[in-house]
Order: sequence, then structure tokens, then C-alpha cells
Amino acid sequence: MNALHPRPSILLIEPYVGGESKITGVNRIIKLSSNEGAFGPPPAAQAAYAAIAGELHRYPDGNATKLREAIGTRFGLDPAKILCGNGSDELLAYLILAYGGEGTELIMSAHGFVMYDLTGRYAGSTVIKVAEKNLTADVDGILAAVGPRTRIVCLANPNNPTGSLVPSSEVRRLRAGLRDDILLVIDAAYAEYVTEPGFDPGNALVDAGDNTVMTRTFSKIFGLGGVRLGWAYMPASVMDVLGRIRGPFNVNAPAIAAGVAALGEAGWVEKAIAHNLEWRGKLVAALEAAGIKVWPSHGNFILADFTTAERAKAADADLRARGLIVRAMGAYGLGQCLRITVGTGEECTLVAEALTAFMKDG
Ligand SMILES: *Cc1c(COP(=O)(O)O)cnc(C)c1O
Repeated sequence: MNALHPRPSILLIEPYVGGESKITGVNRIIKLSSNEGAFGPPPAAQAAYAAIAGELHRYPDGNATKLREAIGTRFGLDPAKILCGNGSDELLAYLILAYGGEGTELIMSAHGFVMYDLTGRYAGSTVIKVAEKNLTADVDGILAAVGPRTRIVCLANPNNPTGSLVPSSEVRRLRAGLRDDILLVIDAAYAEYVTEPGFDPGNALVDAGDNTVMTRTFSKIFGLGGVRLGWAYMPASVMDVLGRIRGPFNVNAPAIAAGVAALGEAGWVEKAIAHNLEWRGKLVAALEAAGIKVWPSHGNFILADFTTAERAKAADADLRARGLIVRAMGAYGLGQCLRITVGTGEECTLVAEALTAFMKDG
């Protein structure tokens, strides 16, 4: 028996399971399980990463000033309200630990991003999952779930893994219906992929008050998941709080260099958006033609619905036998579904062909 005891809530956490990248006995693997983007890392980011090798003995700039300025310029935001992190997961954790904890409640939608649940439990918060409508967060349901102990509401928009988007007017209505002492975290990890007219990833709501934060990432459209880089746009009061708890060098020097370079890579985002629209559309059409229901997606992935968990498992096994790794959704309470990242054209074609064959063969 170990004499050490962590806080009891920690033992209720199921460790995060990431997308797999290996299948024993299969040489050529196509990894479509982590929404990493179809083009690899931007060439300018690779060059910047290599160029900083001779400086690795130096501590990074603890304020990531160049990066915050580059983000501010790119997205038209005040760098003073931007905080960078070791992935947006780190920033989400700071927020949830700082504003949640024992005796408080964190609200998320039923199929929202799983890190809110894991980190909420880590903080000791009670995590409340609100039923969705059509696999989309339900603003009225969330507002109805708010109680006196509620301190945080986390909304991924677009949401991973469902791909659903809550219209910006609805997000505004959500904010307006929440008490001022409730932090609204808008996780806009897939914001760049959204082509909906009038979509605001959260900028205006952050600016409009002092209780909304938007998180963003370099892991998806910018193809830098491996260096761990995210950022958040927040009011001064939240910046002050996170400034007290964050690691002084929480973003490493290669990540800063790669991030600045990625933002400077001409045409990168435009190319990725065009590719995503084209191939997400083709993938959806092919799967629907094969008789598979696909949930509408605003991200660089789709959620294929096989009606039953048995069917989804069989499809997953079939794909794996061909070296195609997608994401099983049991951890999200969507065992009947598989989440498939929009990869290269060839990868999309292969997964569509494999699933078409699977549906034909029973
Ligand atoms: C991928 C993802 C993140 C995490 O991004 P990192 O910056 O790599 O930590 C956060 N939220 C959602 C919804 C995601 O899909």
C-alpha cells in the first residue's frame, strides 16, 4: 500500500488517450486520428526551428513578445491581451484551476472536448455535462444548468469531436445569460477553418467584458502540434491571474520561433482552408454515397456515424487492417461514431474507398 494520497478527485480521472500512430505488423500508416492538418509543418517554421538549434542553451523570452506581436498583427488583436501557452491545453488548465476547484461547478456540453472534463476533475470541480441537440451545444440547456456554484462554462466552437458550430449570435446570447462571476471559455481551436459568414471566434466577447476568454492553437491549421503551442485572448483581470500561476518559461524557444515563422508563411492558411473545403466535401459525399451518416462539420475532421458501437468497431478494425488510423469515440460517449481527420487528397480517397468496401461487404 502506498502511503501517499493525491486529492481524491484525481483518482476519478481517466487518463487522456491520444490518437494512435502505430499498428503492429503494418508498415505504411496513415494517421487521421488527431486533426493535425494535411500539409505537415509550414516550411518556414521548419527552417526557424532548425535555425534556433545553436541557441538552445538560452532561456526563452518568458513573455514570448515577438510571438504575441505576430499573433496580434495577424488576427488584429492587442498583444497585451494575448498569453501564449504550451499548447492551448496548458492555458485551459490554468483557467480551470484558477477559477474552478472544490465546491464549484464547471459546465460543458455532453460531447464537448474531453480536456475540460479531465482538467475540471483535476481542479476538484464538479463537471456538469449538458445534453446536446443534434450533437450541438444547447445554449438554453447550458443556461438552465447554471447554479449558484457555477464558475466556468467551457464551449469548443467549432466543437471537437462533433464538428458542430454554435452561431456567434447564440454564443452572445449564452454570455448575456451567464452571471458576471462565471468565466466563459470559448475554445476556438478550429476557428481558422470556419467559413460561415459573420463568424466571430470570440474576439468581440472578450473585448466586451472582463469574463470571457478565447483559446486558440497552432496544433491544427498551422501544423505545429509537436512543438506544443497555443494562445489565449483575455481581459486584463484574467491576464493578471494567469500571470501569477503560469510557468515563467511555459513556452519554449523552438515553439516561439516556429510559431512566428508559421504566421509569416504566405498563403498557408488560405491553402489549408481551400484544401479542407474541397476534401472534407469529397469525403462526406463518398461516405454518404456508401450509406454512412456524417454529421455536418466546421473543422478539419468529420464524424462518421455507424448507428451502433458494434458497426463502428468493425469499421475501425477494417480500416486498421489497411493501415488507416482514425479516432474511436467511446471516450466521448459516441461509440457508434468514428472521427476522421481530413488528410491529403490521397488519404481521403483511401479512407473513402476502404469504408465504401466495408459497407458493401456488410
Ligand atoms: C486539439 C484541440 C485542443 C488542444 O490543442 P493544443 O493547443 O494542441 O493543446 C484544444 N481544444 C480543442 C477543441 C481541440 O480539438
